[in-house]
Amino acid sequence: MPEVYNWQLGRKMAYVYEEAHPQKQFAAVFNINRCIGCQTCTGTCKATWTFSKGQEAMWWNNVESKPYGGFPQHWDVKILQKLDEAHQAAGKKAEWDTAQTGEAEPYGVYNGMTITEAATPEQQALGYLPPDSEWRAPNFYEDTSTGYKGDNLGISTEGASLPEHQTWFFYLQRLCNHCTYPACAAACPRKAIYKRPEDGIVLIDQARCRGYRKCVEQCPYKKTMYRGTTRTSEKCVACYPRVEGNDPLSDGVPMETRCMAVCPGKIRMNGLVDIAEDGSWAEAPNHPLYHMIKVEKVALPLYPQFGTEPNIYYIPPRWAPRAYLRQMFGPGVDEAIARYVAPSRELLAVLQLFRTTQKMIFRYEIEEGPLVLETEVNGQPWQMYDDTVIGFDAQDREVARLSVVEPIHERPVERLNSI
Ligand code: SF4
Ligand code: SF4
Ligand code: SF4
Repeated sequence: MPEVYNWQLGRKMAYVYEEAHPQKQFAAVFNINRCIGCQTCTGTCKATWTFSKGQEAMWWNNVESKPYGGFPQHWDVKILQKLDEAHQAAGKKAEWDTAQTGEAEPYGVYNGMTITEAATPEQQALGYLPPDSEWRAPNFYEDTSTGYKGDNLGISTEGASLPEHQTWFFYLQRLCNHCTYPACAAACPRKAIYKRPEDGIVLIDQARCRGYRKCVEQCPYKKTMYRGTTRTSEKCVACYPRVEGNDPLSDGVPMETRCMAVCPGKIRMNGLVDIAEDGSWAEAPNHPLYHMIKVEKVALPLYPQFGTEPNIYYIPPRWAPRAYLRQMFGPGVDEAIARYVAPSRELLAVLQLFRTTQKMIFRYEIEEGPLVLETEVNGQPWQMYDDTVIGFDAQDREVARLSVVEPIHERPVERLNSI
């Protein structure tokens, strides 16, 4: 197999195709700390793309309650188990070397095997085909927390407090990661799955697909789904007409996708980042996604050890056990949570930009404001400034302007509600 460079693993890895990169990459940051589990994103994707016959159990976007929930059921436990068995059989350990960190290996070096490296001779990537029963609902175990261990009834009389809750759950928002090295494309014997050179969106050519379900088997995130009525597989299309700026609402500039734009919890920010020829992210310090992912490292990839280099990034939930989060988001978890809990002046301003516009933001500026709070966070001094952050679209037009301190608007007396 050819070798490609995976920056999330800090090393080269085996992949079915030669290294090739798009000019831009579709990416997003999800702030798990803010998700209210309302499933507006899930319903909106369904109402837009998967409302037809044969798509009843198809949820391109789903939000699941961790640790117990999953769509399909137990998808991550099952693939983690398979990966673990492959390591045991090979006498290897799925460990990270965090002593080696740098520009090209921001989380250290992963010394274990990825799903393409651990594949059986019949597969391009390690995987399994879930039975129909596991696809029957998008959020099994909704809102189910772990039990409190100190009491027979599993209830704590003292409540929970940070830094780690003893009884916990969190919402995990999921859609196709439009991976840099997609396992679905590697698996497809018909070469029906392709990654677009202009924006890195991964699509299935419905005319070429014959429904062999190799992609369903080998996507580790289980984000391609089989449709019995057409006998083809389908997946999230990244709302590409919006990303292209062809939606009637878009003014000709890229817009965020439907599931991103509707989020009432304001947890999602979607954009396009520039990719250099070698596959690294071109430096763009004033791009909000670049700032959060590359500069502050506050948002992390989901199961980077799978090796597909996923492009949806998560700000980890600060109350969940760190060992669980490190398995899910890699070794950058502790630093990411520390930076989120006591954000830098710039990060605090950038975090205000979530869900302020449906247009994709390509650049931001910050106008400095006064110091409004001096306090301590985790025993360290921390200051808050009322800065103003301004977001610009692809044509460099201002599309968002927000201050850190939410302004209060008083209604004039003649506009008061008189009912
Ligand atoms: S998440 Fe799965 S379906 Fe999406 S690009 Fe990656 S491997 Fe393919
Ligand atoms: S990006 Fe579009 S197609 Fe993909 S999950 Fe979101 S709404 Fe659905
Ligand atoms: S719409 Fe937003 S807040 Fe609601 S479940 Fe989806 S990601 Fe969470």
